[in-house]
Amino acid sequence: MIAGDRRALIESKPMQMAEGRLAYRNGRGTISIAEDISLRQKERFVIAHEIGHIELHQDSEIRPICDEDAINEYREDKQPLEAAANEFAGELLMPEEMFVDACNESPPRLEFLGEIASIFRTSLTSSAIRYATIGPRPAAVVLVRGGNVQWFWPNPRFPYKYIDYYNEPPPRESVAGKILSRGETPEDVEVVTARTWFGDNAPRDQYFCESTHYSERYDRILCTLWEYEPDI
Ligand SMILES: [Zn+2]
Repeated sequence: MIAGDRRALIESKPMQMAEGRLAYRNGRGTISIAEDISLRQKERFVIAHEIGHIELHQDSEIRPICDEDAINEYREDKQPLEAAANEFAGELLMPEEMFVDACNESPPRLEFLGEIASIFRTSLTSSAIRYATIGPRPAAVVLVRGGNVQWFWPNPRFPYKYIDYYNEPPPRESVAGKILSRGETPEDVEVVTARTWFGDNAPRDQYFCESTHYSERYDRILCTLWEYEPDI
C-alpha cells in the first residue's frame, strides 16, 4: 500500500547476487524482489528496505543493488545508504510503541525475537536490531558472518560501545565462538563473563547473557547480549 502511494510497482523475479533492487525515476518506479526469497517475512523486509531507498535516496544518483550483505548492513561507515534503508525498514515494520509493548515480557532471547519477528512479519536480524535500539533492556547485537564479526550494535545504555573483534572470529569462549570452533549447539541463553567479550578491563564480577541463532545456510550467527542479573 505504501509502495503504491509512492508509485512503485513491486515485482518478484529471478535475480543473481541480489535480494532486491530499485529502479526509480521522476516519482515512479519498480521494486524488484528476488523470487527465491523463501520467507515471506524477509520479503517484506526487503520491500520495506527498498521503500527506504525511495523515501531517503530518490534524488541520489546511486541505484543500489541490495544483496544479502546490504540488507544486513547497519554500519553507517561501511554502506551508509544501506544502513539507512535498513533502519527505515525497521521503523516502518515495527512501530515504536507497539514494538516496546510486545517486548516488555522478555529479555532479547533470540527465540523470543523470532516470535516478535513473526508478529511484526519481519526478519530476525531487524527485530534484534530494533530491540537493541529501543527495547526495554539495554542490549547489544553482534553479527558473525563467514566466521568473522561483521558488526556490533549496542543500545545507548549498554555498558560497552565497542568490541575488539571486527573482521575477526568472535572470542573463543563466547557462545558464538564455541559454535564456530567446536560445533557446539548452545542453549537459548547462556551466561558468559563480561571479559569474554569486552576484555580484561571489564569488571571481574560482571556477566552477560548471550543468546545466539545460527543459520548454516547463510553462514551467520546472530547474537544478543544483555547484562545478567541473578534472581535474588
Ligand atoms: Zn539497499
